[in-house]
Amino acid sequence: MPFDTELTRRLGIRIPVVQGGMQYVGYAELASAVSNAGGLGILTALTQPTPDDLRKEIRKTRTMTKYPFGVNITLLPTLQPPDYGAYAQAVIDEGVKIVETAGNSPGPVITKLKKAGIIVLHKCTTIRHAQSAIKLGVDFLSIDGFECAGHVGESDITNFILLSKARQTLKVPFIASGGFADGQGLAAALCLGAEGINMGTRFMCTVEAPIHQKIKEEIVQAQETDTALVMRRWTNTTRLYRNKVTDAVVKIERDSKTGEFAEIAPYVSGKRGRQVFVNGDPDYGVWTAGQVIGLIHDIPTCDVLVKRIEKEAEETLTSKLRLAKPKL
Ligand code: NAD
Repeated sequence: MPFDTELTRRLGIRIPVVQGGMQYVGYAELASAVSNAGGLGILTALTQPTPDDLRKEIRKTRTMTKYPFGVNITLLPTLQPPDYGAYAQAVIDEGVKIVETAGNSPGPVITKLKKAGIIVLHKCTTIRHAQSAIKLGVDFLSIDGFECAGHVGESDITNFILLSKARQTLKVPFIASGGFADGQGLAAALCLGAEGINMGTRFMCTVEAPIHQKIKEEIVQAQETDTALVMRRWTNTTRLYRNKVTDAVVKIERDSKTGEFAEIAPYVSGKRGRQVFVNGDPDYGVWTAGQVIGLIHDIPTCDVLVKRIEKEAEETLTSKLRLAKPKL
């Protein structure tokens, strides 16, 4: 077995690849496929309308995989604030052993999860936030570079700097998130000090991802320049697939005299964005994508993808080691 890292050991997975918690993508179908392939599949808590629906989705996932999987709980501004405590309780009651947290002021949720003995991976975009999460007792950090999809934070530090800074300063193991799609990326992350990687956009473009085929095809043809940053004006900067809706948001954000969030709310609404994945129209609403979108060229099953990543990483690491051997 080529991969034996703190992440594979603690989580009981075969390959150090975690599927990111993606809103309206992280259902049982994808999470179980990633776990069956040897990585860690993740259900997205807030994708479920209520904590009870999350309980049902956890039970459904259990019927689809015998391997470990986790749940993502993201705490960010929302149009309708959810009861995070109730979602966390559902996770605890259902016996899930791993949670990915992300977002602002995660203290109460992390404390609750840790009291229940759950392994917590906390995703953050700065070393300062990572240090705060360590004080809360998280088990792993998921260090999220500026390349990433969704909430990029406000510091704009890419992973070449952020991962090495994490290696130099953090006393808790970390995985690398943002910009990963292949085994060369995994090898690089391990070399920089990470115990594994987190991938979101790459897993959206797999056979099992429960989104419309046309969106997967849109991802395949997209370039690394096809994302847009919105909501910086509201200190909630988010990287999305660039489309007609993000163009409209960028214009309002730039030109609005009032700066009221309500002006862009109908455009960035998650409910509207969710329809993109149902109707297959990439311009219907907003949907998240990382710069890594330019490195995705096919729609494999999760099993094919994870095996390929494993092989590429192994080949990359061994060929580099060979190069490093002194000449006789
Ligand atoms: P939503 O429809 O409630 O909001 C749409 C977007 O506007 C989100 O990005 C949200 O953060 C932002 N927003 C809402 N109110 C805001 C305010 N007052 N100020 C600044 N920004 C504001 O969102 P949703 O799609 O139903 O998702 C629910 C929450 O879960 C959101 O916070 C979302 O970002 C988060 N989430 C994101 C991911 C991801 O992959 N990026 C994964 C899980 C959860």
